[in-house]
Amino acid sequence: MTPILEVRDLRVYFKTIYGDAKSVDGVSFDVYEREIFGIAGESGCGKSTLVEAALRLIKPPGYVPTGEIRFRGRDLLSMKPRELQKLRWKEVAYIPQGSMNALNPVLKVSEQLTDGILAHSDASKKEARSAALAGLHSVGMPPEVAEMYPHELSGGMSQRVAISMSTSMKPSLILADEPITALDVIMQRLNLQTIADLRDEHGITIMMVAHDMACHAEICDRICVMYGGRMMEIAETTLLFSDPLHPYTHGLLKAVPSIKRRESESIEGIAPSPLNWPSGCRFHPRCPRRMEVCVDTVPPMREVRPGRFVACHLFDTEAAEGADTVGTADAGESTDAAEKSA
Ligand code: SF4
Repeated sequence: MTPILEVRDLRVYFKTIYGDAKSVDGVSFDVYEREIFGIAGESGCGKSTLVEAALRLIKPPGYVPTGEIRFRGRDLLSMKPRELQKLRWKEVAYIPQGSMNALNPVLKVSEQLTDGILAHSDASKKEARSAALAGLHSVGMPPEVAEMYPHELSGGMSQRVAISMSTSMKPSLILADEPITALDVIMQRLNLQTIADLRDEHGITIMMVAHDMACHAEICDRICVMYGGRMMEIAETTLLFSDPLHPYTHGLLKAVPSIKRRESESIEGIAPSPLNWPSGCRFHPRCPRRMEVCVDTVPPMREVRPGRFVACHLFDTEAAEGADTVGTADAGESTDAAEKSA
């Protein structure tokens, strides 16, 4: 599989009067051509910042102290502004969080789409308008929507217009940040299907950030789980749901309400601050399986099975064998988890 996006040791910090808030703190992963790659995690874990960094949208006091983000081999972080400008929209498009609010209230849908295409291409006005209408059609919008103003659209329709705007230049990669937030479940499903169709029918690779695990389950091929500005686990979606390895992933999945369990369980404790991440494993203050080694030693991300990456000492055989569990779960659970990785 060929990666379309390669992220290496990316860090995104924000200067504050209390010191640097380390929102993204050393993440590395690949997104492959034509896949839908999900980034999951609680609010504040750094997932939206990661997407903004990939498009060089981080503004002061934010900065990127280290890292590479290569799109088809070209490093986006060191690219000249003019080159980056050409690449945005045409090759890499962005669906921002709450993008329905980004529509101009005084312009008809067709005018906004046409203007966007004219600004990023050499198309004539006629060609741009016809591409705009084709774009609306491709996201399942009826032709009459073109002549509507944003206030005449529902939230779900506005979101699909925003998706259509992002895809109007036929990009190779779309970065979508919480694309179905604030929609009812029917519109969520329709819009997720629209995003899946972009990959299935147009071959567009999607990297999608969402806090809702059900949303990832619906369309993602692989999911990466983030916590405390770092990657905790990366796995194929079916494996992540059927056999989660990282204790934080376990917690996230238990928090999803299910008809079988009737009740969801929340993860104990509160998410830490990026101004003061915990030492060692950042999840250790909340982890029911923590061991002494977890308190001061950072667990490296390991490929414990082909394509299965986990950052947890339970999967470091020496650490798991030699250490005592100090969390609330019994040691047997930890051993079981370590054995699974073998
Ligand atoms: Fe972190 Fe240790 Fe828990 Fe693994 S067992 S998640 S390393 S605290």
